[in-house]
Amino acid sequence: MNLTERDKKHLWHPLTQHQLYPNHLAITKAKGAILYDDKNNEYIDGIASWYTCMYGHCNEYITSSVYKQMQQLDHVVFAGFTHEPAIKLSEELIKILPENQEKVFFSDNGSTSVDVAIKMALQYHFNQGEKKGKIIALEDGFHGDTFGAMSVSGLSVYNGPFEDFFIDVARIPVPTQENFEHVKEEFIKLITEHNVAAFVYEPLVQGAAAMKMFDGNLLNELIKIAQENNVLAIADEVMTGFGKTGKNFASEYLEHKPDIICLSKSLTAGLVPMAITSCSQKVYNAFLSDDIGKGFFHGHTYSANPVACSAALAGIELLQSEEIQGNIQRIIKSHQEFDSKIKKHPKVKSTRQKGIIYALDLNVEMERYGDLRYKLFNFFMENGVCLRPLGNTIYILAPFVITNEQLEKIYKTIEKALEIL
Ligand SMILES: *Cc1c(COP(=O)(O)O)cnc(C)c1O
Repeated sequence: MNLTERDKKHLWHPLTQHQLYPNHLAITKAKGAILYDDKNNEYIDGIASWYTCMYGHCNEYITSSVYKQMQQLDHVVFAGFTHEPAIKLSEELIKILPENQEKVFFSDNGSTSVDVAIKMALQYHFNQGEKKGKIIALEDGFHGDTFGAMSVSGLSVYNGPFEDFFIDVARIPVPTQENFEHVKEEFIKLITEHNVAAFVYEPLVQGAAAMKMFDGNLLNELIKIAQENNVLAIADEVMTGFGKTGKNFASEYLEHKPDIICLSKSLTAGLVPMAITSCSQKVYNAFLSDDIGKGFFHGHTYSANPVACSAALAGIELLQSEEIQGNIQRIIKSHQEFDSKIKKHPKVKSTRQKGIIYALDLNVEMERYGDLRYKLFNFFMENGVCLRPLGNTIYILAPFVITNEQLEKIYKTIEKALEIL
């Protein structure tokens, strides 16, 4: 039996209706921007395996740093103990995070980083004697699949069985020039009439909402209003973090800095899972007390795993290298050139780009997980390109190390795909 057949016996895949889609392609190795399947076919990883392995798969600098760390200290409980990889990571991260960020708290994945942020915000108010329970989130936002994160996610097409059990969330539309006065009014009304603890948003680009991009100035104004009213601003940078928008963090584009930031995905360069929720001194201070109960009693077994920290440290070092920064500029320019050609195509409705994130909407209606979407996905794979269309959006978010030839191949394949629709 091949791997695909063996897979079916005991495995249950994420986001999958197994009755309709039983087959899963087996990937046996990966290098740079390329994935290899069990027949040694090559695929360009155009989505960096969900925006994780931005410095390339099996990057030798990352793997050798991790290997060294593995032989030195594998793991130790982070409640009551500390270690250099976590200390150094906190130092390096605080250097590049927005200037108001002072503390970092570890967890295991993007969803938990959001759950931590929400709990931090709720307890921040609780510790000061205020019972604020409502969270404001943006429509179409995606923040993860654990209960807190799922509750604030607006993309709830398949959340039916759980909706009755969500935490208290109010959703506002993504601000645009056209709706802004209305959105602002609604936002102020929510804040003044309800006990709002926090406002959570993906800054500038909503990843799972098919790379929807929106105006930073308008978001900036909402953050300002929130903070003036003692509502904490939570930036979910799980997707946007670490250089993808052209700056290290999307929040850098905004004048008003978030109180709390969620990080994961490319934090550990695609090697191992880990997440961080960072916050300002003001947030942290609300947990300091002679009363033990005012501390933050949240902790995952693998918090600040030293091996994961070493991957993150190596990744941050690479991110700041001239080579990677040069690659980011090269990819930005390459996408711009492709865009000027493709945007006039009759089957292309609209295009958008922020940093190395590029998306185009097709003039064709497609369900998020429907047949046409699978047809398009299969076409890309048959042509050696791994892109996962979201509804009628095709997006590219490739590793920073992708070559010009590989980018050209992605563009050509997209052009060919437009012909089969
Ligand atoms: C992927 C993602 C998450 C969830 O991260 P997981 O590691 O999958 O739990 C949360 N927020 C954003 C913006 C994401 O893109």
